[in-house]
Amino acid sequence: MKQQDINSFIERNLKNFSVNSTGWNDLIGNMLSELVAAGWNMEHDVFGKEKFGGLRCYIYSENEELNARLRKITNKYARLSGKVCEICGHEGKLRMINSWETTLCIHHFIDQKPIMEIDENENIVYKQNPILNMKDIVKAEVEFDLQTLKLYIKKKINTDEYFSFSTQEPNYYLLLKTVPLHLFSEDRQSRISDLFQNLKDCEVCGHKALYHKSCLRCHNEPWGASKYHEEDYGEKLEYLKECQMDMFIDEDGYEDYFNYDCSFDKIPGHEILFTLDDLEEYKKLLF
Ligand SMILES: [Zn+2]
Ligand SMILES: [Zn+2]
Repeated sequence: MKQQDINSFIERNLKNFSVNSTGWNDLIGNMLSELVAAGWNMEHDVFGKEKFGGLRCYIYSENEELNARLRKITNKYARLSGKVCEICGHEGKLRMINSWETTLCIHHFIDQKPIMEIDENENIVYKQNPILNMKDIVKAEVEFDLQTLKLYIKKKINTDEYFSFSTQEPNYYLLLKTVPLHLFSEDRQSRISDLFQNLKDCEVCGHKALYHKSCLRCHNEPWGASKYHEEDYGEKLEYLKECQMDMFIDEDGYEDYFNYDCSFDKIPGHEILFTLDDLEEYKKLLF
């Protein structure tokens, strides 16, 4: 088998893959050459596509033994694709954008789902584009235990149009803190002030973001909040370590994204409690 023939087989078949961009080209190329090495006849085309953020390849032969070998390879690449950015080929994670799933590096994820920021002129901006200024807000509402925020501006007050924000996006609590309190109804005003006045230090993530029994930044409970903590972990140090390791492993990409959150103050001198050995041991248990 000549490398040249394999190369032209790859080049021809890359076009048969319905994918969002070129980030997976190397991955698909490697898979195609492994399929050929396993016995696939290069005269036949291979087809595939992106589905739910993973690479799917449709390939079939009449030979059952060959089929089993091919399936092993396509399954392997389906798994590998879950860690490669579809756009640039760098390390990626499965991410949700609105309701579709896609595998992207943090850079391309933020490109698709930009971080909300508040600039020095009190504009709410995405990718430096202002969408709304604090001064233009005439009414503010919070729902679902303060987890969503609706902001109304004058010219739209009579319609149902509003700007909506949720805790799913970084800087949500920064925004909630910045919106003038008098724009909320009275009962909400006291709820919101209560929240910001009663934040405590979270020993897991190291932010002053603990409100009652949950951290608004990392969503972990403080040690002892549940009666199962002692049963499951024995001591506080073990509990904190494990929560911190979960954050570090960051399987769902939450930490990656919320690294950009400036809602809460960092606690000076916050300590990472696990060692690299702890992490290795823990990964063995998990994967
Ligand atoms: Zn990328
Ligand atoms: Zn926390």
